[in-house]
Amino acid sequence: MDVVPAAADTLENWNTSPFQAVIRDGYIQGRGAIDDKGSLVALMEAVEFLAAQGRQPARTIILAFGHDEEIGGDQGAVLMSQALVQRGQRAWFVLDEGSAAIDPHPLTGAPAAIIAVAERGFATLRVRAVGQPGHSSTPPHETAVSLAAAAVDRIHSMPITRSLEGGPAIDMMRALAPEISFTTRMAVANEWLFGPLLRGRMEGDPVSRALMGTSVAPTMINGGVRPNVLPAEVEAMINFRLHPRDTSAEILARAQAAVADLEGVTVEWAEPPREATSVSSATSSSYALIAAVTGAALDGLPAAPGLMLAGADARHYQPAAENVYRFQPMLFTTADLEGIHGLNERLSLNNFERTIRFYIGLIEAGAFP
Ligand SMILES: [Zn+2]
Repeated sequence: MDVVPAAADTLENWNTSPFQAVIRDGYIQGRGAIDDKGSLVALMEAVEFLAAQGRQPARTIILAFGHDEEIGGDQGAVLMSQALVQRGQRAWFVLDEGSAAIDPHPLTGAPAAIIAVAERGFATLRVRAVGQPGHSSTPPHETAVSLAAAAVDRIHSMPITRSLEGGPAIDMMRALAPEISFTTRMAVANEWLFGPLLRGRMEGDPVSRALMGTSVAPTMINGGVRPNVLPAEVEAMINFRLHPRDTSAEILARAQAAVADLEGVTVEWAEPPREATSVSSATSSSYALIAAVTGAALDGLPAAPGLMLAGADARHYQPAAENVYRFQPMLFTTADLEGIHGLNERLSLNNFERTIRFYIGLIEAGAFP
């Protein structure tokens, strides 16, 4: 139910007021149209439609709407998941936001629906470098700035496994194989031989690269007050999005090893890291159900398992479900995606209607005899 703000200094760049939900040009325009009120309203429309028919479902459908997803879900999804566990309720599957149909998909060049079976983790490393403060006319061999720069560079370029294996990437490639060029298909089928070629190709695209391994992004650096003064301390932040194959402990150990010989440099997590989730099954009956209803809702578009690159409340429901999936049957261009947390967020009426029909179809196929 919650949305991120529309920053005051960006309001003049919005085509319509972000909180008026103007319907214009075939779109619902406004903050949250995609993330995540589109699904919220579509779900309620779908359930009210089915309830109005007075039919009795064979399975219980639980609707869980959090109020704090954008700030981590601690008072929303976390507590609701705990309540389900305490009641001894374990869902056949959970479906949340987090992925959709992309047009074009970077790997096939055509539209494809990506059902995310896992979420990456989130962890921020604080790099602290202390140095001898004083006048810069007679500097020591290393200053706090040069130490921090060296540390950031080493951690940024430390070896990180990038492979199709060990996560949903290989399953995604296999599911999309019919849509992929012959040469890429050959390479996927023979990763032992063409792995470097394939990885080289995927490295070129940020989304594909993120699918293959943990991403490393130096995002902040702070220190120094004047050009002629040696700072006592410099601090930098490096943000990691953890791939399911990596744990935060491994990444921290590798980062500490990379800077071990830099005297005066320490690295630690700036806040407790959030691990990547476990990978839900792409061969389960629930995945098959979602994929089938997706095909119906999106006119036979190919569906493939994938990895959610950001985070959602879904991860909190792991203990209360056999499998957890992240997918909305919305067809987006890259431009549409830029509206999420960005300017001029909008949802097409076609996508909105399709989402209502999708939830009706999913609930009917999954919960009614
Ligand atoms: Zn969001």
